Amino acid sequence: MKVDIVIVGGGIAGASAAYFLSQHGSVALVEREEHFSYHSSGRTAAQFTVGIGAPTMRRMAQASRCFLETPPEGFCTHPILTPRGCLTVAKAGKEGVLRRLQDNLASVGARAEYLDKEAALSLFPALAADKVDAGVYEPDAMDIDVDVLLQGYLRGAKARGAALLTRASIEGIGRENGAWAVRWQGGEISAPILVNAAGAWADEVTRMAGLEPIGIVPYRRTAFTFALQKEFDTRSWPHVGSVDYNWYVKPEPGCLMGSLSDAVATQPGDVYPEDLDVAQAIANIEADTRLHVGRPLSQWAGLRSFVADRNPVAGTRPDAPGFFWLAGQGGCGILTSPAMGQALAALAAGHEWPGDLAGIGVSAGDLSPAREGLAQGS
Ligand SMILES: Cc1cc2nc3c(=O)[nH]c(=O)nc-3n(C[C@H](O)[C@H](O)[C@H](O)COP(=O)(O)OP(=O)(O)OC[C@H]3O[C@@H](n4cnc5c(N)ncnc54)[C@H](O)[C@@H]3O)c2cc1C
Repeated sequence: MKVDIVIVGGGIAGASAAYFLSQHGSVALVEREEHFSYHSSGRTAAQFTVGIGAPTMRRMAQASRCFLETPPEGFCTHPILTPRGCLTVAKAGKEGVLRRLQDNLASVGARAEYLDKEAALSLFPALAADKVDAGVYEPDAMDIDVDVLLQGYLRGAKARGAALLTRASIEGIGRENGAWAVRWQGGEISAPILVNAAGAWADEVTRMAGLEPIGIVPYRRTAFTFALQKEFDTRSWPHVGSVDYNWYVKPEPGCLMGSLSDAVATQPGDVYPEDLDVAQAIANIEADTRLHVGRPLSQWAGLRSFVADRNPVAGTRPDAPGFFWLAGQGGCGILTSPAMGQALAALAAGHEWPGDLAGIGVSAGDLSPAREGLAQGS
């Protein structure tokens, strides 16, 4: 099979690339698993926030807000975003960290409220009163319906003729007559443009093509759900987390979701939750709140994959003609997927840099896989 663009990896990144690139040429999206979005993209907290430390990631989040709030006509029949503010709480002594978060939010034009203890407690009444002294509230943070977003990308790409292939594990990548040939058991596709959207496996796929890796490190994060206590009405509760990044809690329909906010460097793979991480998360949540977690209803783990500067990667390198990376989205791959997909499509199709990215101060160089400081330890 010959196409204009072959995309390796069918998580949210690959799906968004297929959606935007299918406007410019013929596309094949190739995924190893039986279903799209089986790995990181199917294991998230489904949150939209721009309270992000890494500056380019933060801008890509803000640049994605418009698409997520008002997707193109026919993209989906249900809203992608629903309101759920985000509250970060701290004990006395951490005011500086809270102020930095507030500044980060304000730097991309997001509303950010500095709260005293009473205001934080009134937003999240299950906080232990002696464990909070202040907070920062992002009222325009949102819940994301990840499946609505994913299906919108896939449906849109398919409607423009994209081939969506599952159970195709790419095992070899060669360069022949100015095109990339990707091979799996029983199949082969060649295309002048290859997009590496393989998430935690992005370096593995890079090496298959005989190229230098970009320095992706996957970090495991554990999450679980637990039953609601009858005394609490969680419907208006925000997403709440500690400024120390050692727990967060988020209301889900009929239950609560919790996490240790852990980040354990690991190898790419199908990761599972460690009992110790779940136990530590429960201990931290129970120490800082009046919630009784008890036995989790469900638990899982997923990978958040970063390059060293923790900003995302979209683009190509001089040593890799026609080979594009769409990787390193860390903990923000769902919420940044519209702006990342658009940026990648502009670069791969050779189109003008999107005006809304330029307007928010993001250049192609900020996302480049050839930028300084990308490799771990550099
Ligand atoms: C607990 C947790 C909470 C999170 N919460 C949020 C959140 O609230 N908001 C947010 O925006 N983000 C969140 N994230 C981060 C988000 O999940 C990731 O940034 C995003 O899913 C990355 O998408 P991806 O498509 O790059 O990776 P993936 O979804 O992992 O997709 C990569 C795909 O490539 C495929 N692949 C790899 N190698 C090959 C090969 N050789 N051949 C064929 N296919 C291949 C894999 O099978 C995989 O399906 C969270 C992550 C975790 C773990």
